[in-house]
Amino acid sequence: MRAKTLQLSGWGRRPVAQADAYRPEKLSEAKAVLTTTETSLLARGNGRSYGDQALNSGGVVMLTERLDRLMSFDAETGELAAEAGISLRDIQRLFVPRGWILPVSPGTGFATLGGAIANDVHGKNHDHVGSFGSHVTWIELLLASGEVKRITAESDPALFAATLGGCGLTGVILSAGVRLAKAPSNAYRVTERRIGDLTSFMAALEEARHNSAYSVGWIDGMARGAHLGRGVLETADFAPTSLPEQQKHAKRVPFDFPGFALNGLSVSLFNKFYDRRVPVTGRERTTYYSNFLYPLDALRDWNKIYGKKGFVQFQCVIPDVTAAEGLKWLLEEISAARAASFLAVLKTLGGDGRGMLSFPTRGYTLALDFPWKDASTTDLMRRLERITLNHGGRIYLAKDSALSAEGFAEMYPRLGEFRSVLEEVDPQGRFASDQSRRLKIRSAS
Ligand SMILES: Cc1cc2nc3c(=O)[nH]c(=O)nc-3n(C[C@H](O)[C@H](O)[C@H](O)COP(=O)(O)OP(=O)(O)OC[C@H]3O[C@@H](n4cnc5c(N)ncnc54)[C@H](O)[C@@H]3O)c2cc1C
Repeated sequence: MRAKTLQLSGWGRRPVAQADAYRPEKLSEAKAVLTTTETSLLARGNGRSYGDQALNSGGVVMLTERLDRLMSFDAETGELAAEAGISLRDIQRLFVPRGWILPVSPGTGFATLGGAIANDVHGKNHDHVGSFGSHVTWIELLLASGEVKRITAESDPALFAATLGGCGLTGVILSAGVRLAKAPSNAYRVTERRIGDLTSFMAALEEARHNSAYSVGWIDGMARGAHLGRGVLETADFAPTSLPEQQKHAKRVPFDFPGFALNGLSVSLFNKFYDRRVPVTGRERTTYYSNFLYPLDALRDWNKIYGKKGFVQFQCVIPDVTAAEGLKWLLEEISAARAASFLAVLKTLGGDGRGMLSFPTRGYTLALDFPWKDASTTDLMRRLERITLNHGGRIYLAKDSALSAEGFAEMYPRLGEFRSVLEEVDPQGRFASDQSRRLKIRSAS
């Protein structure tokens, strides 16, 4: 198998890094990539993490997209076994018509099974079902030693917990078992209502935690003063009956938007329009499952909207007790910066994940994009990092490209345990990424 030198980036299109990429088609070829190369190595799924997490400058990247076979399905337990490169949307397309669904879906169906495990991703129903790793029954892992090991929470508790949310640093996930949930239908009954400010939004999300299976808030990050935190709350439950199968083709963004197209005014107008779509009295609709779970996938390459310079995403979680204060500070800082961010996403999370570096903890998570301008964008990220730390929160590594190593160490309390596992399974530091080097994940020195 031959390598191809590629320029790669994450979904935010910055930074860009060059690496030797291999695209194995069989598990034996994946193993050969490890044994025949000598530099640092990293698995990469569909590159839907935003920053430098799936990059390995000057090293080797193993593209898993052709390792995408289904291996087995148990119709009694719902347990699916599949290779790690299969996308979540392919799993859904095959199983939703048969009455099964992934219990956890991030906001894009293009993430792979391996990527979903490596970030222990969460969905709009975290309060009820936890994150992706809670439904993973076993993982087949290619270790730095060349050994392929099938691990479970019982057989290898530390390695299993390090691999869930472990950013690809414990080895290459070759395949995994995940338990699907019963889907009463292929559609959701969605309620949308306008919310006027942050306090009301948090109260409405708190109520939704108890009353709805899914909830997500879309917030106008440009709103200020009395309107700070205004937006639209969507809550949803499965519809009682299915809709006709839908085979919609995604629209494409044909070119990079020029920088001037995105400014404070155009973004403010878009955000206001989004708010006003929903009547004051709210509205209800029944929609196909993928429209609700993956609304952004309807526009392929939407990351081009931010222009050639790309963008950064900031996502943090602030614990329940400090969330009101922390979110207010964050939104004030963001709107004052006039950094032209489209709608921010606000969701609740129910508790800690099983992974040592899992992002979720009980609290409120805020996520939003900023078009990359210059050093002032990094300065803004640092101010948001400080506010997050001051309120006991943490930043999500799947979205990050700007966090400091010191901030990271403060935010992730199980980092010491994670480092001990790496020391045991990969003492030479074979697996690495640009993010792991920037954040000094392996060791503080
Ligand atoms: C529009 C959009 C919406 C999103 N919404 C959410 C959301 O709601 N919730 C959420 O949690 N996340 C969300 N994400 C983030 C996304 O789910 C994660 O970044 C996910 O990890 C991407 O999967 P991927 O296969 O593209 O991984 P990549 O981006 O290719 O890689 C991400 C990490 O996973 C590792 N990895 C990938 N495959 C393997 C493997 N086989 N073995 C070992 N390590 C591997 C890589 O080394 C890297 O560290 C969103 C992303 C986008 C673009």
